[in-house]
Parts: sequence; C-alpha cells; structure tokens
Amino acid sequence: MRKPVIAGNWKMNTTYNEALTLALSISNQLENNIKSDVILCPPFVYINEIKEIIKHSNIKLGAQNIYPKNQGAFTGEISPEMLVSLGCKYVIIGHSERREYFSESNSFINQKIKACLSHNLIPILCVGEKLNERESDQTFSIIQTQLEQGLEGLADFISDAPLLIIAYEPIWAIGTGKVASPEQAQEVHSFIRQKLEHILNPNLSAHIRILYGGSVKPDNCKELMKQPDIDGALVGGASLNADSFCQIITLSH
Ligand code: PEP
Repeated sequence: MRKPVIAGNWKMNTTYNEALTLALSISNQLENNIKSDVILCPPFVYINEIKEIIKHSNIKLGAQNIYPKNQGAFTGEISPEMLVSLGCKYVIIGHSERREYFSESNSFINQKIKACLSHNLIPILCVGEKLNERESDQTFSIIQTQLEQGLEGLADFISDAPLLIIAYEPIWAIGTGKVASPEQAQEVHSFIRQKLEHILNPNLSAHIRILYGGSVKPDNCKELMKQPDIDGALVGGASLNADSFCQIITLSH
C-alpha cells in the first residue's frame, strides 16, 4: 500500500561531466514501468542540467539541503524558493553529516522542515543513532527526540502522508559497509511508525514512507525491503554507480 522510494544522495561527489554522465546513464537504464518513486539528489550546482536529462523519465529531483529563509543576506545558502524554481520536489533534511559537521540541531531541522512544507517541497527527514548510542541502549530515545523535536508543531501542517518521508540511517552504517541487519532495521522502523502516530495525525502513520539508509547495495537491499515497515532506501555510495543504483531500484518492488 506504500509505494517504495529509492533516493540517491550523491553528497559532495562528481564533477560536472561525471554528474551528467551518471544521470544520463541512470535515466537510460531505468525501465519505464518502474513501480518505485526514484529521486536523484545531486549537488545543487548540477540540478538544472540534470532536470533536462531526466525530463522524459519518471525520475524526480531532490536536493541535499536548504536554508530555511526565502531570500536575503545569507551568503552561500540556497533557499526553498530557488529549489522550487528549478523543479525540485524533495529535500534531504537533517542528514547525519549535516548534524555532525555543520552542528545542525533538531530545532534548526524543524525550521527547515517547516520551510519545505510551506513551499510544497517534500522533506526526507533523516534520523539515526551513533554506534556508542546503540551500544548504550539509547537508540530509541535518540530517535524519539529527533522525531519529536524535528517534527514539533507540524501535526496540522502535514495533512497527507506523501508530504513527508522519513529515513532511518544508523550512523554506524553510513559509508562503512556495515549494513544494519533486516531485523535491526525493522525494529527501529516499526518504532518510528508508532511514534509518528503520536506526533502527527494518527491516521497518517501507516501511510508514511520510512526508508532505510546505510550501506545499501544490490546484494543486501532485497532482504531489507522485505521487512514490513521498510518502504525503500536512501542510498549514498551505491547511487554513484548507475548499474548498482538501477539494480537497487529494480529490487525495491
Ligand atoms: C547516506 O549518506 O545517506 C548513505 C546511506 O550513505 P551510504 O549508502 O554510502 O552508506
């Protein structure tokens, strides 16, 4: 009942030519009858040209971040309005790398989600625990706080399940090759769904897509996708290779 989503987070990778070649190769390889939502999140500077490359496909465009203001003296930042004007539909918010290297707090992430929603951009809210937090049994409390504070005041804003995507990304699994087991991931996904029932309109929780992220590859994605509360993947490293990204998409439904 929930349409799978496969999103590729290219992070700060690819030169201009590499980015266009990758987008072209993904769009050429993807069959038209793909039953998942496919989202590419390239670096900002390539979004406009990639929009042209994918315009005849079902692939959607996303960004990796925004600044939660419409315009103004915020040197180096990108606004929601700018992304909308480029045809972006999705934005990754609160990725663990932004939380860690750019000190993004849950309340700043909350402002970004509000900015997305007021511009009809769909936020992909990332949550996840560090290895030491998992080892000290804090996984659920960390994720509960990230959800409660990240989504604070949004129950009335989010009137429909497709307006929000959550990505569970255990930090110890990102870029490390250490994927969470399907059971470990399912346990947290089901917890997230229960929490969403209290934080948002309770009827929406069963319909919100919750993606897993952390070293997803063609050889581990099938088992992850079989879990009842895993609705797709946020893919980093493997999204930089057209063959592996397209295999993950094919295996996602
Ligand atoms: C990510 O950065 O969101 C991610 C999941 O990366 P990787 O797939 O490389 O672990």
